[in-house]
Amino acid sequence: MSTKQPDPGPLHEDMWIDGTWCRAAGDQRFAVFNPATGEPIANVSRGGSEDVDRAVRAARAALGKADWRGLTPYQRERLLHRLADLVEADGERLAALESLNQGKLLKWSRAIEVGGGVQWLRYMAGWATRIQGSTFDLSVPAPAGVRFRGTTLREPVGVVGAIVPWNFPLAMAIWKIAPALACGCTVVLKPAEETPLTALRLAHLAREAGIPDGVLNVVTGDGATGAALVRHPDVDKITFTGSTEVGREIGAQCGRDIRRVALELGGKSPVVIMEDMDVNAAVEAAAGAIFFNHGQVCTAGSRLYVARSLYQPVVEGLAALAEGLSLGAGLDDSADMGPMVSAGHRDRVRELIDTGREEGGEVLAGGERYDGKGYYVRPTVVANPHNKPLTLVEKEVFGPVVVAMPFEDLDQAIDQANDSIYGLGASIWTRRLDYAQRAVEGFRAGTVWVNAHNLVDPAMPFGGVKSSGIGREHGEAAIEAYTELKSVCMGF
Ligand code: NAP
Ligand code: MG
Repeated sequence: MSTKQPDPGPLHEDMWIDGTWCRAAGDQRFAVFNPATGEPIANVSRGGSEDVDRAVRAARAALGKADWRGLTPYQRERLLHRLADLVEADGERLAALESLNQGKLLKWSRAIEVGGGVQWLRYMAGWATRIQGSTFDLSVPAPAGVRFRGTTLREPVGVVGAIVPWNFPLAMAIWKIAPALACGCTVVLKPAEETPLTALRLAHLAREAGIPDGVLNVVTGDGATGAALVRHPDVDKITFTGSTEVGREIGAQCGRDIRRVALELGGKSPVVIMEDMDVNAAVEAAAGAIFFNHGQVCTAGSRLYVARSLYQPVVEGLAALAEGLSLGAGLDDSADMGPMVSAGHRDRVRELIDTGREEGGEVLAGGERYDGKGYYVRPTVVANPHNKPLTLVEKEVFGPVVVAMPFEDLDQAIDQANDSIYGLGASIWTRRLDYAQRAVEGFRAGTVWVNAHNLVDPAMPFGGVKSSGIGREHGEAAIEAYTELKSVCMGF
C-alpha cells in the first residue's frame, strides 16, 4: 500500500434538487460502503416519490425559465466547458472518491471517470452550437402563386430522467448529462445506490460552473427511487443504463405511458482469436478484455473463442496471467485488480462460478473463495473445451470470469459468437483483412472491435442489438436522442 493516501475531498450526503442540498422527506438514509473493506463511508439520503416529484417539478420549471431556455447555444457550450474545467481541476479528488466508493483502480478512475468525463463534456459542448434542422421543398398541390416549404427544428426533448449503474458512476452520469444539457434539456439523475458520491460532487461542480438551478438535479436512493422517476408523468424521456432485467421493466412502463426511452443493457461479449495471432499477444488481448474494471464492464469479453491450434497455449497463458494478478483496494497502487462493488454482487459472481464448475467447466485459475475483508473475487479462467452449454456461457456475470472455447474456422466462431440473447460488443483479433471484414459483417453487435476490445469514444455511437438494448449514445446519435424533430410547413 502506498503510504500517502489520495484525498477524496468533501462528501455530499444530501440530494441536489433545484439548486439546494436537501434531505429526503422523512430524512431516510442508506449507508454507502468502501468495497475494499466493507466499512461504511457515507450515509446518503434515500429519495422517495415525493423527492422525485420535487426534482421533476424543478427540472420542468427550469426548462421554461429564461436563464436556461433563453441561453444561446454558445452559452450552453460555454457552461459545459466550464464544468469540464472544474471536473478536471477537481480530478485527483474525484478519482480518489470514485476508487474509494466503487473500488476500481485509481489509474482507471483517473483515465476513465475523470479523463473520459472531461473529454465527453468537451465533445458534447461542441455539439450545442451544431444542432441543425433541414429545409426541403414540398410537393403538396397548391393554388397558383402559392408555394409550400418544409423545415425541421430540433428541439430539446424536455425533462430527462437518467438512471445509471455502479460500474462507471461518474463517466456514465456524464454520458447522459452532457448531451442532454447540450441539447437544452433538463435532467433528474438517479445514481446507483452503491455509488452515489461522485454524482453528488458533480452537482456541486455544476452549480459552481453556473448551470442554473433546476437544470441538473440528483436524487439518490435505490431501485424504488428509480421506479418513481420512470413512472413520473412529467418526465419526457428516460435514459437507462443497467441490467436487461430492469431495462425490460422500464421499457414496459415507458411503453404503457408512451414515454421516450433509451435502454443500454447487459452483454455477454465474445472475443474471437484467430490462428494467425501471436500467443502472448492473444493472452494479453483476452486478459484486457475481461479483467479491465474487474470484469464489471457491460462489454466485458466474457466468452473467449480461440482457434483450435492456439486454444491450449492461449488458455494456459491466460490462466497463468490470472494467477499472477494481485488483488487490493482501488487506492492501493500495487494492486492489479480491485474488489467487486458490493457483498451481494460478490456472492452472485461466486455462485455463478460454482454453477460453472458443477456443470462441467474446468476452472484453471481463480474460483476459490477469498475470505479476507473486502468483496474480492480472484480472476477466474474456465475452460470449456467441448463447448458444453454452460450457464457461464449464457449469463452475464459482470465480474472477472471468462469461459474459453475452441473453434474450427471463422464461420463456426461467428455462429458461436452470435449464439447469445445479447449483442453489445464483439471483437476479433487477427492480422488478416479477410477475417476482419467477415467478422465485421457477421457479428450481431452494436460495436465490433478489430484488434481492440472495450474501447469507447465520444464520437463513436454506442449501444446494443437484441437484448442489449434500444438506442445509441455518443456522437451525433446522442444529439438525436435528446432532441425531438418538429416539422414546420409554411405556405407563402
Ligand atoms: P441494475 O440493477 O439494472 O441497476 C441500474 C440502475 O437502475 C440503478 O441505478 C438501480 O438503482 C436502478 N433501478 C433498479 N431497479 C429499478 C427499477 N425498477 N426502476 C428504475 N430504476 C431501477 O444494474 P446494475 O447492477 O446497477 O449494473 C449492472 C448492469 O448494467 C449490467 O447488466 C451491465 O451489463 C449493465 N450495464 C450496461 C451498460 C451499457 O451501456 N449497455 C453499461 C454499464 C452497465 P439501485 O441500484 O440503486 O437499486
Ligand atoms: Mg442495483
